[in-house]
Amino acid sequence: MAATATEPLQTRVLGVQVSVCPDVFEAALALQQRGGGQIVTLNAEMTMAAIADPSLGAAIEAAQLVIPDGAGVVWALARQGYRVRRSPGIELARELLGHAAQRGWRVALIGSSPQVMTQLGAQLRQQLPALQLVFCAHGYQPAEAWAGLEHQLLAARPDLVLVALGVPRQETWIQSIPGRRGGLWMGVGGSFDVWAGTKKRAPAWMGAMQIEWLYRLLQEPSRWRRMLSLPQFAWAVWRGA
Ligand code: UDP
Repeated sequence: MAATATEPLQTRVLGVQVSVCPDVFEAALALQQRGGGQIVTLNAEMTMAAIADPSLGAAIEAAQLVIPDGAGVVWALARQGYRVRRSPGIELARELLGHAAQRGWRVALIGSSPQVMTQLGAQLRQQLPALQLVFCAHGYQPAEAWAGLEHQLLAARPDLVLVALGVPRQETWIQSIPGRRGGLWMGVGGSFDVWAGTKKRAPAWMGAMQIEWLYRLLQEPSRWRRMLSLPQFAWAVWRGA
């Protein structure tokens, strides 16, 4: 059976579920129409993290749409005979913001530093004046503030919630919100930092050569330990684990 834009096929990479669909934006809109749910953007590092961390694994398993964001996952899918395009989460999130502005969706942004959140809020109000930003909160709140924030967030009845708390926290946090229903909820990692201009994305040629990971490593050398999972991922897929 072929995957369609609105009915993705489900498969697994190293046991972690991934949706195969020709157009992730259309698939996200279809999910919103079906009542919403959680979108996860899966890369090789996250796949290995999900295997090692059962709470992340469970959050991904419970998500409604898991898109292949990363050359490693696309390669693993190709080995199963699925030809898919890499779908960077940052691009899907931006497309959804544009759509939200056109359609009057209620949008919530959670995560990143207080400075980035302030900058991003101002920037989005300028770039997408029609955008209905109904809730914004940075990601460095004291532990006791979160329950109240979650309550306010749900009361704002968002149609789209972008969460920049990093992996695995953003995925497990979305999963754990009591009474969450309706709307698209998506972890977006460092996207707010990129949009606000405090972090840069790898140049397109590095993306094309599938060495975006190298750019990230050069920009944030402290990630080297996390990145050891990349050769482990490649080896496990190659062995057919
Ligand atoms: N972050 C946050 N609260 C925290 C830790 C991180 O809001 O307690 C934010 C951080 O400021 C950044 C994002 O989460 O905007 C994580 O970005 P990163 O590129 O590290 O994402 P990942 O690679 O983990 O998806």
